[in-house]
Order: sequence, then structure tokens, then C-alpha cells
Amino acid sequence: MTTALLSHTDCLSHVNPPGAPEQVARLHYILRALEDLDLHRVDAPMATDADLLRCHPQSHLDHIRNSIPADGYTALDADTSVSPGSLNAAYRAAGGAVKAVDMVLGGEVQNAFVATRPPGHHAEQTTPMGFCLFGNVAIAAKHALDHHGLSRVAVVDFDVHHGNGTQALLQDDPRALVVTSQQMPLWPGTGEASERGPHGTVLNLPLPPASDGAHAIEVYKSKVLPAFAKHQPELILISAGFDAHQDDPLANLNWSTEDFRTMTKMILQSAQNLCKGRVVSVLEGGYDLDALAASARVHVQELIKAAT
Ligand SMILES: [Zn+2]
Repeated sequence: MTTALLSHTDCLSHVNPPGAPEQVARLHYILRALEDLDLHRVDAPMATDADLLRCHPQSHLDHIRNSIPADGYTALDADTSVSPGSLNAAYRAAGGAVKAVDMVLGGEVQNAFVATRPPGHHAEQTTPMGFCLFGNVAIAAKHALDHHGLSRVAVVDFDVHHGNGTQALLQDDPRALVVTSQQMPLWPGTGEASERGPHGTVLNLPLPPASDGAHAIEVYKSKVLPAFAKHQPELILISAGFDAHQDDPLANLNWSTEDFRTMTKMILQSAQNLCKGRVVSVLEGGYDLDALAASARVHVQELIKAAT
């Protein structure tokens, strides 16, 4: 069995204004860092509207489509912009996550990494937010449940920011366990441990500023692995943001590159025990280009090791 890498050149055509942390170079750096690895490389297809409509109303799809400028940028909020290439990029980002679920559940590959942008975990039902347009991971989770008929999935989000969008899109569905760790306090300000969702299927893990990877790994061992074991997911989706890295400019956690390896191994071991190692990992944040590339590389190296 192998590891799939899903990406698309369209994802390089979503351009944010100069100075924005979420930039085209992020994806260039990641793809270069993965160049020599043994991966089953697949072009991310466009999501269908039906895929997106599992998480967003038609009005949101229309809003994004109608905001796309003929040239330049349209600001959707203080952080989130669209450019002429953004619609195709966003459809590829969601479609790559959906296709990765098809490939893993179809037994074509053991696991998959979706290297696309824009990211997705801040996008709420009708609100693009924090560089995100569509909730890529939540859309993929719903696809696994509604299209493939799984009974239970888990999403784990180790991006340094709260996965508020994923939480909003999945918290009403008790089939989905949503685990999200985040530096607190930090933008967007939500993600307190008391936020458990209407079915108690949301697990928020606030991490104190300046805490390190060893602290986070202990939290995951004591809280996340037991939550996985209780939920018994048939597929684990990862919102893989690498902005908890000590070099990242947007936050103040002190994870090393190797901490991302340990975190990845721990999640993969749990997936091996619970769901035959079926994992789909989707890129979220990470804004120091070298740290992002190095962290994504060790993450994908572990996916490959787990697949062989
Ligand atoms: Zn982030």
C-alpha cells in the first residue's frame, strides 16, 4: 500500500495581497520538500457543488463565486481575500480532500496527504474566515459519512488556531468526533475546553502560550487517544496545520519539527489500532516557509512509513 499526495497547479493561482501570510510560496515550498518521496501523486479534482452543499448553503457558494474579481483582489474580511484564480483553487482544495477519502476508503492507498490551498478549518457555514473559503476537512468527513456510509469518523486538528469552522460544520452530527488543539489566547478567540458541542462530540484542547511539543503530546496521550478509542472512528482525518512550530510568525507555541513527527506517529498508531490505518491528512496553516516545508516533510514521511 502507498501514500497518495493530492495537489493541483490551480492551487497556486489563489493569490493573496502582498504581505499576507497565506501565500502561494507555501505550497511551492511544501511540494519541493516532498519531491523525492515515494508518493502516489494525483491531481486534486474539483469538488462538486453537491460535495460543498453538505456543509454550506447555496448562498455561500454563490457569495464566493460572485466575489471573484476579474483582476486584483476582493477582501472578504480583514484576513481573507479572493483573486481571479481563487474559485478553482477552492474547488480543488475541497475536491482533493473528497478524492483522498475515496482513495483511502476504496483501498487504493493506505493514507493520503492533501497539499492544497486555500485552507479550510476556519470557514463556517456562511462565513469565509482566516484565509479559508470552504470547510475542506468537514466536507471530506461528511462525504465519508453520507456518501460512503461510514458510521463514525474523527477529525483531529493540530493547527495552532482553533478549528472553529470544522467545529461549526460538524458539531451537530454525532457521527463526527472533532478534536482541536489551539494556543489560547489566540485568534479567533474561541475553542475553550467548555465548548463540547450539542452531542459532546467536540473536544477542545487549549494550549498555553510558550508551551512546547512535549506538553501537547502529553495532552494528546491523556485526552485525544482515549477520545478516539471511545468514538471508534472508521476513518481519521487530520487538519494538518504546522503553525505551532517555534519559528512560526503567527503564534507562540514552541513545537520543533520533530514534535510534528511524534504527533503524526501517535495519530497513525491510533488509526492502526482503530481503523486499519485509514487516514486522510489535509493541509491547513503554517507560515514560516522553511519550518512549514520541514514539518510537512516529516509528517508525510511518517504517513509513508505507516503505509508500507
Ligand atoms: Zn493556523
